[in-house]
Amino acid sequence: MQHGPLRNAYLDALGIDRWVRRDAPAEAPIEAPAAPAPQVAEAVAPKPPAVPVQARVREPLGPITDWGVLRERVATCTACDLCKTRTQTVFGVGNTQADWLIIGEAPGGEEDRQGEPFVGRAGQLLNAMLLAIGLPRESVFIANILKCRPPGNRDPKPEEVSNCLPFLSAQIALLKPKIILAVGRIAAQNLLATDAPLARLRGKLHQFGEANTPLVITYHPAYLLRTPADKRKAWEDLKFARDTYQRLVTN
Ligand code: SF4
Repeated sequence: MQHGPLRNAYLDALGIDRWVRRDAPAEAPIEAPAAPAPQVAEAVAPKPPAVPVQARVREPLGPITDWGVLRERVATCTACDLCKTRTQTVFGVGNTQADWLIIGEAPGGEEDRQGEPFVGRAGQLLNAMLLAIGLPRESVFIANILKCRPPGNRDPKPEEVSNCLPFLSAQIALLKPKIILAVGRIAAQNLLATDAPLARLRGKLHQFGEANTPLVITYHPAYLLRTPADKRKAWEDLKFARDTYQRLVTN
C-alpha cells in the first residue's frame, strides 16, 4: 500500500481529491471518502444478450502449454473479420508470472498501431490506477477480450467475442492469476456472461472460470477520462481489489 506523498501523487494522477483534516499530521495516510453520488451505469448502448463463455467457444484451441505458441496462434488468427482491418494483433503485455491479470475490452487505434494494450491516455490512467494500489504496470499482465481492433472502436460483436475468447482462456490457463481486474462494461459482461449494468457488477467479488479465479470489476480508464466524477468510485473498486488480493495471499 502506498502512503504519504507517493500515494498522494498517484491519487492526484487519478484526479481524486484528497480530504485533509486541518489538525492532521502532514504525512498521515488519507483515505478517499466514499462516493456520495448515486451510481451511474457505464452502459448506454443496447447490446445483444450475453451467452455463457463456454457456449461461445466454437473451436476449442486444445491445450497450449507455451506462451510462444499461443502468441503465434493469435498473430496468425483469421477466425473473424477483424483480421481484415487490423494493423496487427494485440496479444497482451506484462509479467507472465504475475498474480494480477487486467482485462479490457479490445484494442483501440493506438493499441492497433503499437501492438500493445492500454497505451495512450487511457493506458496512462490505467498505469496510475495500478500504481495507486502499489502495482507497477510491468508487475501485472494486461490483455483484452478481443485481440484485434473493431473498426471505429465499436463494441465487439458476439461472434467476434466467441471466436476470440479461447485465446484469453488460454492466457488465463498459462498465467494462473490469483486475481483478475476487469475494466469496463464489455469485459465485465463477457467474463460474467451477463447483461447486468456495470453499476450492479462493481463492489462484489465474482469468480471466473474453472479455477474460480477471484474477479473484481471497475470502470474502463477511457470511460473515466470522459467521466472524471466516477474516478472516486473507481478508487473504491481498486481498494476493494487490493484488499481482496491481500486477504488471498495472507490466508
Ligand atoms: S479478434 Fe480474435 S478471433 Fe478475431 S481475428 Fe482477431 S485474434 Fe482472431
